[in-house]
Amino acid sequence: MAKETHEFQAETKELLDLMIHSIYTNHEIFLRELISNASDALDKLHFESLTDQELLGGDKTFEILLTTDKDKHTLTIDDSGIGMTRQEVVDNIGTIAKSGTKAFMAKLKEAKAENEALTDKEMIGQFGVGFYSAFMVADHVVIETRKAGEKSGVRWESDGSGSYTIEDCEKKMRGTNITLTLNPAYCGGAGENGEEHENFLDPNRIRALVKKYSDYVRYPIKMDVEVEEVLKDKDGKPVDDGKTVKTTKTETLNSMQPLWTRPKAEIKEDEYNEFFQNQFHEWEKPMEVFHIKAEGTVEYTALLAIPANAPYNLYQKDYEPGLQLYSRHVFIMDKCKDLLPEYLHFMKGLVDSPDLSLNISRELLQQSRELKAISRALEKNILKTLARKLKNKREDYEKFWNEFGKSFKIGVYNSLYTGSDAVDKLKDLLLFMSSKEGKLVTLKEYRDRMPESQKKIYYAAAKDKETIEHLPQMEQLRDKGIEVLYLLDPVDEFTIETIHAYDGKEFQSISRGDLDLGDAESEQAKKELGDIAKKNDDLIRDVKNTLGERVTDVKVTDRLKSSAVCLVADSAGPSLTMEQAFADMKNPLFKARRILEINPHHKLFERLQAIYTAGGKDSEDFKDYCDLLYDQALMLDGMMPDDPVRFAGQLAKLMEK
Ligand code: ADP
Ligand code: MG
Repeated sequence: MAKETHEFQAETKELLDLMIHSIYTNHEIFLRELISNASDALDKLHFESLTDQELLGGDKTFEILLTTDKDKHTLTIDDSGIGMTRQEVVDNIGTIAKSGTKAFMAKLKEAKAENEALTDKEMIGQFGVGFYSAFMVADHVVIETRKAGEKSGVRWESDGSGSYTIEDCEKKMRGTNITLTLNPAYCGGAGENGEEHENFLDPNRIRALVKKYSDYVRYPIKMDVEVEEVLKDKDGKPVDDGKTVKTTKTETLNSMQPLWTRPKAEIKEDEYNEFFQNQFHEWEKPMEVFHIKAEGTVEYTALLAIPANAPYNLYQKDYEPGLQLYSRHVFIMDKCKDLLPEYLHFMKGLVDSPDLSLNISRELLQQSRELKAISRALEKNILKTLARKLKNKREDYEKFWNEFGKSFKIGVYNSLYTGSDAVDKLKDLLLFMSSKEGKLVTLKEYRDRMPESQKKIYYAAAKDKETIEHLPQMEQLRDKGIEVLYLLDPVDEFTIETIHAYDGKEFQSISRGDLDLGDAESEQAKKELGDIAKKNDDLIRDVKNTLGERVTDVKVTDRLKSSAVCLVADSAGPSLTMEQAFADMKNPLFKARRILEINPHHKLFERLQAIYTAGGKDSEDFKDYCDLLYDQALMLDGMMPDDPVRFAGQLAKLMEK
């Protein structure tokens, strides 16, 4: 096919522009990104060749070669990996197909709009912008690539401005080489405006960068270096007065010794941290590292980490969980999901086991007994460590909880569908905000300080603490000194409902069903309430009829102290907060069954009785009064009146009187 010129997609142009005008000060990471792509390409070929030997065409070279040319100012990264077809080059290099990069662009725009100063660290850490980072240092980039199994290659070329060219080319070996013509400022000279940067053609600089970022890459990263050698005779004695000659030697720059195969006692904390930062693109050092070696029925080594931060897309569809899998230090696959339960999806790392077969398919792997045994053991180990942290290092645990707690809460809730035993495993690791000192508490802490007479564990759900504290229902509990859990995350209530009861005590929402505080005082109040209800039978029935479909019931209540009304949900259906959560998820199917509760000891109740006696159920005044009571209750629960205009009108009318 002839040479074609293609325009970059608008978004790509924008990204390239950012790269060229270097939003990052950390230019050196371009090499890590390109080596990591080369390593990925070798992994892909390796994996596919397990089932299709032909792909290798007899050449079992798996390596990355770096070459420099001082005169031409070029640095080439050459790999013998899977390569790309013409279409793949167009798809993978010409467009921003990756959601990660798209998200990066969106985030950047957002930050710009808000004039936020974003540090490079945050940005690269979260998104790793990959191939395009080459344009931070290069004026011109050429890719020559040949897909394994194909006969000819493709050449892609661009200076990073608006377009690129693509044409067929001859290429002897499968794989990809990427040649960067570096900007003079990165070759030991000065740039256009006199700026000088590090010299990326300097072998010492390259050696140091590979050591720093890519030491554990599992394929040799080689570099041709020129060395000056003293001429020696065959006995190793210098000849010709120590005269030197220049020769080229190929040096392997990375150690390739997998960190996890070394004895634990020898490994320094920094080495672990760097490993996760370089291999798993974590910018900050991990919160917790696990280096587990087991030699039981199944032998394995695991090197895992809880990252410092939850990735921005942890709860989105495009987040891909999973650990890397190795067998006898040979890479088998990336993102193996079956090594950990879903609620530990935030873990990063790898498992290496000689008991797993090398050319195992994903399907077979899922059923593998060994894999299941490893998964169980890892889960146990991680949960035990977290339990210990909760007990001994509360502050650290809370940090963990703030990043990843939601995963556990969702895990508990999902067990309803998966039938897993997550409730038992996780219930003591959950934290909820509490009315007690406004701190996060465990269910056990709540349970342990519950007075003998308290029969239930009380909770309230709303979007924030203030809303709960202003709930009319809270007053009584506060006065009685009863602790209430504050469920501030929409998922919390689902989690609590799934657990159902803790240590024999059921959970009770303070705004659902009857609030049975179980003390003598309440018993007495209940009796009185029964009498009041009987006496006001007609009134309550007519309030209910007036409100129509808006409520399923109207009741008098002893739940309230200074407020006149509140809305509660029937204990049989979802709560009002759950209803809102469903509405937010565009799933309005779930409607809470609303009950309007009226405080019979309140002045407004007296007024209601008076209006009812004077005008009866069909009077305008009575209807207005019912509407106003209902709207007031809605607002107390943080919701808008159904018809704000009507509400304002009715209120004005009342005020004029
Ligand atoms: P990422 O590596 O995160 O997917 P990059 O921007 O680094 O994103 O690379 C984009 C894509 O280009 C890769 O996913 C891969 O398909 C392709 N690619 C880049 N470099 C190579 C290479 N050396 N060999 C084969 N494919 C490559
Ligand atoms: Mg990449």
